[in-house]
Amino acid sequence: MEKIKRTKIKALLAMQPGADVLAKGWVRTKRGNKQIKFIALNDGSTINNIQVVANTELFDEELLKRVTTGASLSVTGKLVESVGSGQAVEIQATEIEVLGECDPMRYPLQKKDTTLEYLRTVAHMRLRTNTFGAVLRIRNAMAFAIHKFFNEKGFVYLHTPLITESDAEGAGDMFQVTTLDLKNIPLDKKGNVDFSSDFFGKKTSLTVSGQLEGELGATAVGEIYTFGPTFRAENSNTPRHLAEFWMIEPEMAFYDINDNMVLAEEFVKYLVQYALDNCMDDLKFLNSKYDEGLIERMQSVLGIPFQRVTYTEAVEILEKAVADGVKFEYPVHWGTDFQSEHERYLVEKHFQKPVILIDFPKDIKAFYMKQNEDGRTVRGMDVLFPKIGEIIGGSEREASLEKLEARIDELGMSRKNLEWYIDTRRYGSVPHSGFGLGFERLLLFVTGMTNIRDVIPFPRTPKNAEF
Ligand code: ATP
Ligand code: MN
Repeated sequence: MEKIKRTKIKALLAMQPGADVLAKGWVRTKRGNKQIKFIALNDGSTINNIQVVANTELFDEELLKRVTTGASLSVTGKLVESVGSGQAVEIQATEIEVLGECDPMRYPLQKKDTTLEYLRTVAHMRLRTNTFGAVLRIRNAMAFAIHKFFNEKGFVYLHTPLITESDAEGAGDMFQVTTLDLKNIPLDKKGNVDFSSDFFGKKTSLTVSGQLEGELGATAVGEIYTFGPTFRAENSNTPRHLAEFWMIEPEMAFYDINDNMVLAEEFVKYLVQYALDNCMDDLKFLNSKYDEGLIERMQSVLGIPFQRVTYTEAVEILEKAVADGVKFEYPVHWGTDFQSEHERYLVEKHFQKPVILIDFPKDIKAFYMKQNEDGRTVRGMDVLFPKIGEIIGGSEREASLEKLEARIDELGMSRKNLEWYIDTRRYGSVPHSGFGLGFERLLLFVTGMTNIRDVIPFPRTPKNAEF
């Protein structure tokens, strides 16, 4: 007989009964009686298992004993109509090979209902659960959709460096990169670390944002985006912060703040729609297991325009809420940066839709944001989402050389290290804008997970870099 080619389970489940098939995967469960065993097999191609039916007369008892949860199998058989498995078809097995055994006494995922907290302690194995299979497939679909979206618009994917000399924008605390011997650090005459003997001859760190280099790209080829890892040594143990996360940063020449808002809104709606169109099996699973409102919430952001509000108007709304008896942990008045409780109040209680906040006090935003005529606000833009808070942060950039330099001086920053960046304003400066979408924040929204550690395969957080 001709050797049968393996078919993935997702494809098998969509086939008509009748064919001889070969499936490979891992055992989710095994049940049955003396005459017959039912094996639920999964290969990660879909959240759904295929049921393998094994007539015990055809198989060695010893072999069937080795078929335990977590073991890997190769199964040949006939695809037949199924009555009881919850799927249209199942495999009537003729051959079963155990590729890799799995000791039921030691397998960390033996128990069916494990908490997400427990799974974080076995993050090397948790990828095999239904939950993380679903999250990983959605993560993959979103990464693909991001490239598709920008590719269709003619944006150039720009690879910005991970190791950098600049501290970008003070966007976050940085991880230092060094090859100096920490037990024998060279010092200069003043007693400061002498970086001239370090690998790059200068103090270097992991990037907190690719934006500044992104602006170099945008003012050369028009529209670019970055999509890569970003590092922030923020010692904040929150459910929304990672020390290593992925960020998408489009940067566009000739876009003002309005064009920027239009693009950001179109972008996130496209991604949410893409998830609904392509990940429904996984979404239904997550919806039923973790978050009953997930699919509805995703649909709810699509139909309506996002609410645009100035920071100043938002402060008035929040102050009125406080006057009416709403309790916030952190105080709010003009000039303060909003906490996520404030952002969520605006989105979930007040407007009941995503919000785009604009025109922030210049003192809480970065030096490169375009200054408004009022002298106290800048053209920043934050997109706030239900259950998440800030999902996007961006701005129109200051295009005027004089204003940019004045702001750098005003903030006491060193112009010297930024000369390469300032050159964009010296030579053919253009109005331009951009924003950063936190990939894992987006994933929180489209998976319904509530902790950011559960939407990245191997989370890095303070005191945790295992696996
Ligand atoms: P936040 O105020 O929520 O800490 P931020 O204002 O410091 O965020 P930005 O510098 O504007 O963040 O970065 C752009 C986007 O990157 C944010 O809107 C968010 O989606 C994401 N982001 C920022 N910091 C983190 C982090 N530590 N972990 C995961 N995502 C992050
Ligand atoms: Mn921000």
